Amino acid sequence: MAESVELPSRLAILPFRNKVLLPGAIIRIRCTSLSSVKLVEQELWQREEKGLIGILPVRDAAETTTVGPMLSPGSEFGERSSKIQVGISDSHKVDGKNQQEVIHWHTRGVAARALHLSRGVEKPSGRVTYTVVLEGLCRFSVQELSTRGTYYTARIAPLDMTKAEMEQVEQDPDFIALSRQFKVTATELISVLEQKQKTGGRTKVLLETVPVHKLADIFVASFEISFEEQLSMLDSVDVKVRLSKATELVDRHLQSIRVAEKITQKVEGQLSKSQKEFLLRQQMRAIKEELGDNDDDEDDVAALERKMQSAGMPPNIWKHAQRELRRLKKMQPQQPGYNSSRVYLELLADLPWQTVSEECELDLRAAKESLDSDHYGLVKVKQRIIEYLAVRKLKPDARGPVLCFVGPPGVGKTSLASSIAAALGRKFVRISLGGVKDEADIRGHRRTYIGSMPGRLIDGLKRVAVCNPVILLDEVDKTGSDVRGDPASALLEVLDPEQNKTFNDHYLNVPFDLSKVIFVATANRVQPIPPPLLDRMEVIELPGYTPEEKLRIAMRHLIPRVLDQHGLSSEFLRIPEAMVKLVIQRYTREAGVRNLERNLAALARAAAVRVASKDNAMPLSKDMPRLGATLLESRLADGAEVEMEVIPMGVSNHEISNAFSVASPMVVDEAMLEKVLGPPRYDDRETAERVATPGVSVGLVWTAFGGEVQFVEATAMAGKGDLHLTGQLGDVIKESAQIALTWVRARAADLKLASTDEINLLEGRDIHIHFPAGAVPKDGPSAGVTLVTALVSLFSQRRVRADTAMTGEMTLRGLVLPVGGVKDKVLAAHRYGIKRVILPERNLKDLVEVPPAVLASLEILLAKRMEDVLEQAFEGGCPWRQHSKL
Ligand code: ADP
Repeated sequence: MAESVELPSRLAILPFRNKVLLPGAIIRIRCTSLSSVKLVEQELWQREEKGLIGILPVRDAAETTTVGPMLSPGSEFGERSSKIQVGISDSHKVDGKNQQEVIHWHTRGVAARALHLSRGVEKPSGRVTYTVVLEGLCRFSVQELSTRGTYYTARIAPLDMTKAEMEQVEQDPDFIALSRQFKVTATELISVLEQKQKTGGRTKVLLETVPVHKLADIFVASFEISFEEQLSMLDSVDVKVRLSKATELVDRHLQSIRVAEKITQKVEGQLSKSQKEFLLRQQMRAIKEELGDNDDDEDDVAALERKMQSAGMPPNIWKHAQRELRRLKKMQPQQPGYNSSRVYLELLADLPWQTVSEECELDLRAAKESLDSDHYGLVKVKQRIIEYLAVRKLKPDARGPVLCFVGPPGVGKTSLASSIAAALGRKFVRISLGGVKDEADIRGHRRTYIGSMPGRLIDGLKRVAVCNPVILLDEVDKTGSDVRGDPASALLEVLDPEQNKTFNDHYLNVPFDLSKVIFVATANRVQPIPPPLLDRMEVIELPGYTPEEKLRIAMRHLIPRVLDQHGLSSEFLRIPEAMVKLVIQRYTREAGVRNLERNLAALARAAAVRVASKDNAMPLSKDMPRLGATLLESRLADGAEVEMEVIPMGVSNHEISNAFSVASPMVVDEAMLEKVLGPPRYDDRETAERVATPGVSVGLVWTAFGGEVQFVEATAMAGKGDLHLTGQLGDVIKESAQIALTWVRARAADLKLASTDEINLLEGRDIHIHFPAGAVPKDGPSAGVTLVTALVSLFSQRRVRADTAMTGEMTLRGLVLPVGGVKDKVLAAHRYGIKRVILPERNLKDLVEVPPAVLASLEILLAKRMEDVLEQAFEGGCPWRQHSKL
């Protein structure tokens, strides 16, 4: 506690901006300005004993209301005027800026003693800072202010009373009354505070020990009062005045505490639960703001709530959503579960509960025209789509079957489905089901799982943001089932008009109405589609295209589209029909047109490079580059940002487009084909070369990519009569190979492969049968006749005809049974340039599906028995055949 101090006649002065240090108070200040640092260094830091400095309140010029005389340092000023303005040309001010700053000094200050000093780490610039803890001791008045080096000093006179004066005052009855009153008020305040803060009676001890005029300062220093009030406290040199002022302030403080308490009690009683929550939330927000971690969560939640309100949820779902929202509001953003709850609510708010895209009046003629203009051929398919649309027009809520387009890749299944959406004026979303094995992919994961998500349907609906889109379920035949459930059964629920009104996604956990959605499906094959699912769909088959059809599609649709996609037109690039034909024959052997489109795109890219890199592409006016460069340089030199400049080009748009128009279009020729697409991948001689040795036959198989030509190779070697099979074969095809070998061995004599029935064809040798393209898994019974033909060719050492391909299942007794996928197989044979196709007789009916143009170019040979096949497969028939004994 401050005891009476001997004040020197001069003190170094530290200005205290807009604050007052009162005697008895302790403050901590950081000195960073050059002058204050110098002052601390010279007056406090470098001294042995702890020095004294004067703390003089100053106020900013802007805040001054009373303007006194302007004085410069060194001027004398009297005690009487309470405030003086000193205009100082302070060259040490912030940033070293040479500014004239007006400081208003108070004429009274408090001498202070440093209790603690600490020096900050020296900055690379050599600057240091000090933190000083100061204790106010006694008042003084400034007689004269001057500068010493960088800081101020003042000649001062003490203001506190001497001991004798003090003793005299203590006798004064006014003083006695005032001090008693002060003590009463102070004691009251202390007890109120102690009640609130449950602290011990330490403050009370002060009241007993410290002289009352000092107590007045100490109490007031601990309140938050205005600068003006602090100043007037400092100016209260007369102890009686000081005491009455302090009593008033202490009393005011006491009253404000009481009022606050009363209000709190009252408010607490009246507040309903939600109001309380609101208040607490406001407080939390304020605290967060104070801590600087207010990340606007509050606003986000409010925005989310607004979004939810406008989402148009059905009443029961709205209730559910509100419950979840209440939960979210109670959580802290850092709390586990907050995020997942929020993401869930976002989904609820985003889902199109009622939003529909307005269905335009369906114009069947226009729909037909747009289907025709987008798709070549496919007459039957387009007819069926028009029928479907017509029914929808008559009865919009008709529960017609789900259309399912089945066919190899690239035949236009997806683009047909999107055409349906366009014709109906609805949005289109494609959900790929290829490889989906987990039921949760369709139905979503329950929210209890970490990383749970809605299923693909709900996700798709969220993306299109309307509840009546056309949803394409792509590749429904590729879903499989395993331990994680059966996606097909979930799809059943989706497609069933009875059930999909309340489709239940596990993640969403509330029903969603799918009945307004139009579903269309695609598949490569029909067989893998589970029968119950197939039952709900109407299968529309899209066979592969013949080369002629592909040519037409390419010329009419693909080339214009590809040119457009690459920013070209027929003025730049021409792909003649003959070249498209070559691309079809030599570079693609597919049922659809996807690879064809890719190859055409490759040609367009090559052309684009040539067009775009033409040197004289854009004739610029000669002085333009120079102008641009200087502009840029001068701007960069300034260090300013580079701005966009509108530079007069002197070239009109018309000229620019002319610059790109090349004199004559680039025409694709064979040389360019080879350069861009590489050497031909397929040619018609392939079959002839491969069957050049005995033991090889040409089969026709059916794959997910449509029909394919499949070679079968057989060879014999020394061994013990074993049969080896390679080429990733399934069980059925392995059995077919066994049957084929047995049949050939049993007929060895008939076929003149051995002289008598008794001779074992396998005597001392093994047979190896291989299906090339060994990496592709193969299965199915339709290779039976091909296997026999290969074996007969091997044992007889006669070559099979290169222009003939075959397909057919065979029984042990040599009957040829019908097979599936005849149309695709015939198309494949046609693609490969095969001229004759051997088919089971009972497949004759399937030939109606084959385009007549293809049939006309092929010789179809029908076989009832295996012998018929062999008869046709070898050049000049089968001369070794005797009369069959069967
Ligand atoms: P899929 O779904 O059957 O695999 P896509 O619908 O994706 O095949 O078709 C592949 C490309 O071939 C698309 O660019 C499509 O427009 C085009 N295409 C397919 N068939 C035709 C056709 N008949 N007429 C015009 N373009 C077609």
